[in-house]
Amino acid sequence: MIIGLLSLRGGVGRSVLSRALAQKFSAPVYELEVGLPKLWPAEEKEKEVVWGRLSRFKREKCDLCGDCVKQCQFGALSLEGETIKHRGPFCHGCGLCKEICPKKAIELKEYQVGEIVYGTTDGIELFAGRLLRRTPLEGTVIKKLKERFPLPSRAILKAPCGLHGEALSGLKEAEALILVTQPWDRLTEEIKLFGELTQGLGLGGMVIVNQVREEVSVASWCTAYGLFYAGEIPYLPGFQGDLLKAWPEGEAFWDRVRQHLEGGK
Ligand code: SF4
Ligand code: SF4
Repeated sequence: MIIGLLSLRGGVGRSVLSRALAQKFSAPVYELEVGLPKLWPAEEKEKEVVWGRLSRFKREKCDLCGDCVKQCQFGALSLEGETIKHRGPFCHGCGLCKEICPKKAIELKEYQVGEIVYGTTDGIELFAGRLLRRTPLEGTVIKKLKERFPLPSRAILKAPCGLHGEALSGLKEAEALILVTQPWDRLTEEIKLFGELTQGLGLGGMVIVNQVREEVSVASWCTAYGLFYAGEIPYLPGFQGDLLKAWPEGEAFWDRVRQHLEGGK
């Protein structure tokens, strides 16, 4: 089964849960948070550069007509005084500016925009990608990662932070989604949002609440939104990253997660 791991907020334990699920399911992890990957193999076995197209200006040919600025739907261009300002972090390399430029002052050039890697950390197989330039080409890196290292029948996909289109775009192959969260004042809202999301996608959804100091009562909320509540992982003082070792009492929790996912509910 391909499992997608999501969270609305950062720092709630997606990386830790990804590793633990990988160990429990004997599955590799795909780190799709390529803007800022937390999971990267300690032992790299294969690595490749990812190329992507970005626009480049030949300023000497430009007559400042401004057509390209109007054409760019990503806000990557602006006319500032006697020059066209190009903001690389917004450029998707779509090429529309090049097509419209009457002076042929714009070209598309291939740049090294990222890299992908396969390797292991503590025996866990990891496939990861990261951007090497400030560009919005996360999708290019993720696509290359999956092309170069096709998903096996079991895998954990660690999505970027958020419950929106960009975070979900790398999870097309997911057969079930898990929301990882922590106690906070908008937990029920978050569960509602996740429930609506999974229903809209027609996928099964599971909720795990991490770092719990006092019991949270969200099981009925999960049920109301068609979600399976796997339960709570307690706050573990001095926790060092390997959840299975740090929480040996968690066997019943992991059995519940496994039974639910393998039961295909
Ligand atoms: S390539 Fe596309 S995104 Fe980049 S500057 Fe040109 S129009 Fe804008
Ligand atoms: S469309 Fe071409 S000539 Fe006009 S401002 Fe843009 S780069 Fe310059």
